[in-house]
Amino acid sequence: MVVGPITGCGTESAVNETPGTSTPAVQDKSTDIVVIGAGGAGMTAAIQAVQDGAKNVVLVEKMPITGGNSVRSTGGLNAAPTKYQERDGIKDSIELFVEDTMKGGHNLNDESLVRTLAENSAAAVDWVNDIGGDLSVVGMFGGASVKRIHRPSDTSAVGPMLVTTLNNKVEELGIPVLLNTKAEEILVDANGAVTGVKVTGEEGTYTIKTKAVVLATGGFGANAEMVTKYKPALAGFATTNHKGATGDGIVMAEKIGAGFVDMEQIQTHPTVNPTDQTIYTEGVRGNGAILVNKEGKRFINELETRDVVSEAILKQTEGQAYLLFDQEVRESLKAIESYIKGGIIVEADTIEGLAEQIGVDPANLKETMEKYAGYQASGSDPDFGRASMEFPLTQSKYYAGLCAPAVHHTMGGVKINTEAQVLNTDGNPIPGLFAGGEITGGVHGGNRLGGNAVADIVIFGRIAGSAAHAYVMENGGTTEPTIQAAAKPAEAKPEVEANYKDGTYTGVGQGKGGEIKVEVVVKDGEVIKVTLKDHAETPGIFENAEEGVVGEIIRKQITEVDAVGGATMTSEGIKAAVAQALEAAK
Ligand code: ADP
Repeated sequence: MVVGPITGCGTESAVNETPGTSTPAVQDKSTDIVVIGAGGAGMTAAIQAVQDGAKNVVLVEKMPITGGNSVRSTGGLNAAPTKYQERDGIKDSIELFVEDTMKGGHNLNDESLVRTLAENSAAAVDWVNDIGGDLSVVGMFGGASVKRIHRPSDTSAVGPMLVTTLNNKVEELGIPVLLNTKAEEILVDANGAVTGVKVTGEEGTYTIKTKAVVLATGGFGANAEMVTKYKPALAGFATTNHKGATGDGIVMAEKIGAGFVDMEQIQTHPTVNPTDQTIYTEGVRGNGAILVNKEGKRFINELETRDVVSEAILKQTEGQAYLLFDQEVRESLKAIESYIKGGIIVEADTIEGLAEQIGVDPANLKETMEKYAGYQASGSDPDFGRASMEFPLTQSKYYAGLCAPAVHHTMGGVKINTEAQVLNTDGNPIPGLFAGGEITGGVHGGNRLGGNAVADIVIFGRIAGSAAHAYVMENGGTTEPTIQAAAKPAEAKPEVEANYKDGTYTGVGQGKGGEIKVEVVVKDGEVIKVTLKDHAETPGIFENAEEGVVGEIIRKQITEVDAVGGATMTSEGIKAAVAQALEAAK
């Protein structure tokens, strides 16, 4: 998705022109908080600061558009325990989230940051939804013990949804975004406290005087030189990153004495199309796809962590593999449609036909697929120990996408504490400097789990925004609250005020396979639970519809919600059943 530039959403009062000092032609400006980088973390920080009451916040973005790498993220946001998990009967906890993240990161992670991530994760999902986003479907992702990743209800990629939501909110709040404006240097006084940012925009180079800076410049995955400086083994690797991910923040922070952590920890994404660098979201494997090598054989538990899967692919012929799935998997995940449209997926009516097209031995592939269907039926994979096998992969058509690992996420970065303050090389906070998102290190340790980058962006973006505002207020900021605390997630109201009679109701709707019966629980006037009792829908498609539609109904407190793509009739059946049940609750 291309995100258009935000223009004209700033207010004059937010960036005050002051007499120029750097060049006669370009006037310096002044504000309270400069957020460097308008990706996911930066926009989140700016919004949160304003929601906390900050009046003078400005976003500086070097590219002509907002969104950075964030717009490319395909998975979702890991959170626990959430109301959506509860709705689906998923037992999860902060402890388990911490445990999985530490284990996934080879225990290199800063546990205090991981704990902060987990503790604030459920509120982060609510926050995104409250500002107009959609994270209501819970799915399985590599490295997580339970379904924990929260995704849009239409199963599309999370990045475009998140960035559009943040763009809209930034615009609504009137936060100025200076596009095509590159931060060059963070200015500090004799005590090391932040005093301003030197930037170069279309009009030239000037200084934005400020009390606080939130560094949200993202990673350095598109800076091949920096990548190989920290991890020489990655020389020559392709990258999944947008071209602005050049590590500018690392250079700026280093210059003012910031400490760094885990710089050599650079993650490769295991399933990237080698021709056009499209990332096949981990959700494809999570929803049932397998990986086969050019000999037509599986070689790894596909749901292993990214580092393990990447390494396994690199050991196969030509360092590549095929992501393989069937019609049922295709229909379970909207993101797959974009890969098919993009021409990077080969399809055939039979497994042999597919094998021929991708140049793999048909007998081998057939044997692999039959074996896998048997494992799926028995629920046990004696070859590689894959725990979750969603579909038997026996429903024509069959699909394959070539993939190989590419540089994906730079897990190291500036050292922060749980307040998102940037620490100097002695471990003390640099006054007025905060950071969130991929620029920081410590959260992911030696391996980031899918779903933890978006969690990181939203959670530490919010913490950085709040902390920067609090710092400004302590240091004579000009801000005063403009948005009441009621806008905070905890006090958030549903989009539509519900007023049903409390009780438990049943209803029936017509799905694709027959009747769908539901039980609806209303408490304090709101629908709090929808349980699907009986149905004859296709497994998988049904669960998708259930997750998407039920989540939306609870979130919006109305039954006129969007149907889930690929499961329209089932969705409509569920909606009709809930509507019938609620008739009695009016
Ligand atoms: P995160 O996921 O941490 O939010 P993103 O990659 O999504 O990271 O966003 C980082 C943003 O910061 C990108 O839009 C990028 O163009 C921007 N950026 C990077 N360096 C600079 C810089 N020197 N000045 C202004 N913006 C920058």
